Amino acid sequence: MDEPLQDESLCARGGWFEDFTTRPSNPPLYQTTAFDLHGVEQLDAVVSGVERGYIYTRDGNPNHTAFAADIAKLEHADAGAVCASGMAAISAILLSHLKSGDHVVAARVLYGRTSQQLEELTKRFGIEVTFADSRSCLAMRDARRENTKLCLVESISNPLLEVVDLQALVNAMGEVPVVVDNTFATPCLFRPMEHGAKLVFHSASKYLNGHGDVMLGVVAGERAAVTRVRRIASLFGLNANPFECWLASRGLRTLPLRVERASSNALQIAGFLERHLAVSRVIYPGLASHPDFDLASHVLPHGCGGMLSFELQTAEAGVRLLLRELADTIPFSPTLADVRTTVSWPAGTSHKFMAPDDRRAWGISDGLLRLSVGIDSVQDVISELDRALNQTLTAK
Ligand SMILES: *Cc1c(COP(=O)(O)O)cnc(C)c1O
Repeated sequence: MDEPLQDESLCARGGWFEDFTTRPSNPPLYQTTAFDLHGVEQLDAVVSGVERGYIYTRDGNPNHTAFAADIAKLEHADAGAVCASGMAAISAILLSHLKSGDHVVAARVLYGRTSQQLEELTKRFGIEVTFADSRSCLAMRDARRENTKLCLVESISNPLLEVVDLQALVNAMGEVPVVVDNTFATPCLFRPMEHGAKLVFHSASKYLNGHGDVMLGVVAGERAAVTRVRRIASLFGLNANPFECWLASRGLRTLPLRVERASSNALQIAGFLERHLAVSRVIYPGLASHPDFDLASHVLPHGCGGMLSFELQTAEAGVRLLLRELADTIPFSPTLADVRTTVSWPAGTSHKFMAPDDRRAWGISDGLLRLSVGIDSVQDVISELDRALNQTLTAK
C-alpha cells in the first residue's frame, strides 16, 4: 500500500478522481493554466506536433480548439483561432500581418473601436491607413498603394447596416488580402470565405455566444494566415479564457435558431417603425428603402440579421426620452446580439469618438438609434416600442 499523505499534500494535490475518464454528455471545461507532462519526450512530441496535446493555456487549450474548430467549419475555413475579445482578434490579425511602413485600406464606417485601433497604429506604430467607402469598389481600389498589405471591411456595417459586395471588392483589390468582420452577419447569413476573403473574424461576445455573458473573439481563414494569428495571439497574450470558450460553445448550439428568429423579428419591427409617425427614417437592408436592398437580397438570401437603426423625428431630445421610457423593457445597453432586444445610441456610445461633423456627414445623426432585435416576442417588442415612441412625439 502507498504511504498515506500528509494533510498538506492531500489538499494541495486534491480534486482528482480515477473516474474522470468517463465520457460526459457535455464537453468538459479545461479550466487549467497548464497541462502536466509525462516527461521530456512528451514535451518534445507535443511541441513538434508529433503528438496531439497541450502545454500551457496561453498557447492552447482543448476548449479553445473546440470552439475555434466549430467556427472554422461554420465559416468553411481551413482553421480557426480564439482570442480574448473581438478587439484582441483584430489586434492579432493586424499585428501578425503588418509591419511599420505598411498600408491598410479600411472601410469608412467600421465598428468604432476598430477605427480607433487603426488610428492608434497610425499615430504610434508607423502603419498607414486610408479609409474609403466600402460600397464603392472603385474608391477602395483607388485607395490601394504599393505598400497596401490588407483590406478591412465589415460584411454588414455598424450602425448604418451597409452590405458589402465582397466578391466584387475582392476582385477590385487584386493581390491585397481582404479581411472581414462578420460579427453582424454570422456564418448563418454570410460566409466571407466563399466570396474570396483571406480571413474572417468575429466578436464572439455577440451572436456566436449570444447570451450576453462572454467576452471572446475568433478568427478563421486560410491555415497559414490563422497560424500567424495564433502565434502572435499567444506571444502578445491575446489568448482566450477556457471558460469563455466553454460558454460560447454552449451558446453556439442555438446560433441558427437565434439568427433566424432575430432576422424575421427585425424585418417585422423595421416595417412597423417605417409606418410610425415618430420615426423619420429606418435603416434595414431587408427594406426596399435601404440603398443596399438589391445587393442584400442577393448576398443575404436567408435574412439580414437582427440589427436595425432608426431615426427619431425629435432628434436627441426624443432619444433621451425614449431610452428612459424603454429602460424596463428594451434596455439601453451598449452591446448587441443578446437573446433579448436592446437599444443603443451610436452618437453617444460606439461612435462618440468621431468629430460630430464627420459623424453627421457619414449619416450617423444625433437622433439615430440602433436596435439589436432578440428572440423575445415580436408582438411585445412592437407594443413596447409603440408606447415609448408615442411619448417622444411631444419631446422638446
Ligand atoms: C463588439 C464588436 C467588436 C469588438 O468585439 P469585443 O468582443 O467587444 O472586443 C468588433 N466588431 C464588431 C462589429 C462588434 O460589434
